[in-house]
Amino acid sequence: MIETSEINFDNRVVTPEVTNDDNDIELSLRPKCLAEYIGQDKAKENLAVYIEAAKRRSEPLDHVLLYGPPGLGKTTLSGIIAHEMGSNLRITSGPAIEKPGDLAALLTNLSENDVLFIDEIHRLSRSIEEILYPALEDNVLDIMIGKGPSARSIRIDLPKFTLVGATTRAGQLTPPLRDRFGVVLRLELYNKEQLCDIIRRSSMILGIPCEPDGAAEIAGRARGTPRIANRLLKRVRDFADVIGDGIITKEIASIALDRLEIDSLGLDSIDKRMLRMIINGYNGGPVGLDTLASAIGEEAVTLEDMCEPFLMQLGFLSRTPRGRCATKLAYEHLGIKCSSEQENNGQLSF
Ligand code: ADP
Repeated sequence: MIETSEINFDNRVVTPEVTNDDNDIELSLRPKCLAEYIGQDKAKENLAVYIEAAKRRSEPLDHVLLYGPPGLGKTTLSGIIAHEMGSNLRITSGPAIEKPGDLAALLTNLSENDVLFIDEIHRLSRSIEEILYPALEDNVLDIMIGKGPSARSIRIDLPKFTLVGATTRAGQLTPPLRDRFGVVLRLELYNKEQLCDIIRRSSMILGIPCEPDGAAEIAGRARGTPRIANRLLKRVRDFADVIGDGIITKEIASIALDRLEIDSLGLDSIDKRMLRMIINGYNGGPVGLDTLASAIGEEAVTLEDMCEPFLMQLGFLSRTPRGRCATKLAYEHLGIKCSSEQENNGQLSF
C-alpha cells in the first residue's frame, strides 16, 4: 500500500533547506571561528593550514569550493574563513547574479582581501562564468562598452579577493570553473556525537535546558544535518514547555519527535513513501530516478538532494548502474519481508 500524506517538500520539518522558521535562530547559532565549528575534521584541518599559510605570506586565501548536501555548514564556513583571515564577507548566490552587470558591480565593489561567497555557484550562467575567469585568475574585469562596430573592451583592475563557492552538486560545475578553485572541500553528513555537540552548543546559546539524553534523542533523528538538528531543538522546546517543565529530556524529545512524525532514525513520511514505492511499485528496484520521481509526484532533483544522501548514508538505498534499489536494511526498518531476489538487487553498490 502506498502511503499518502499531507507532508510535502514545502512543509517538511526535516527539510535540509532554510525555511522561514529557521531565520530567527540561524544567525545567532552560526559558529564564528574554526574552533567553534564542530565536526568536518578533515576539511577543517586542511583549511586551518591553508589559512595560516596565506596569512604568513600576507596573501588572500586561494579560491575555495565547498560542496555537500544543504544544511551542513557551507555558508557558516565561508563566514569563518572571512573571520579567520580578518576580512569582510560579501554574500550572494548564483541565481541572484542574472546579468554581467550584476557581477561587475559586485566585483568592483570588493575591497582588498575580501571574501566573496557565491552560494549555488553551479547555477551561474555561462556568460557570467566567462567574466568570472579573468577576475579569479588575474584580478581583472574585462567588460564590453557599446554595441556593434564601435564596441570595445575595457579592462579594470580588481582588488585581490577570495571566492568561496558553495554547491550541492559539484558534478554540475563546468570544468573550467572547477579548475579555478585551489581548495576543494567536501562536507560530509555529521555523526550522532557531533550532532549532539551541536545541539548542546545551540541549547546553551538559546538558553534551552536540555539533558544529554534529550540532546542524543534529537541528534539521532536529525539526519546528519546541523540545520535540521537546530530546527528540531526549537520544536522540541515547545513540547517541553507545554507538556513538561521546560526541560528537554529523552522522554519529552521522543514524544515530540513522534508527534512530528519523525521516526527513530529520522525518516519522515516522504522518505518512507519513496522507499515503499521502490519496494511495492518496482519489486525493490532497480528503478530509474526519473521514473521513481514521477511515480511519487516529485522532481528528480528534489529526491536526489533532499532524500537520497541520507537514505544512502543509512544504507537503505543503493545506486546501481540500472537505477535505485531498496536494501535489506530498508525492508527491515519498514517491517516488510524481503525475498532473496530482492535482497540481491539491493546489494549495496555505489
Ligand atoms: P549550508 O550553507 O551548507 O546550507 P549553513 O552554513 O547555513 O549550511 O548551516 C546551517 C546551520 O547549521 C547554521 O545556522 C549553523 O548554526 C549550523 N551549523 C552548520 N554547521 C555547523 C557546525 N559545524 N557546527 C555548529 N553549527 C553548525
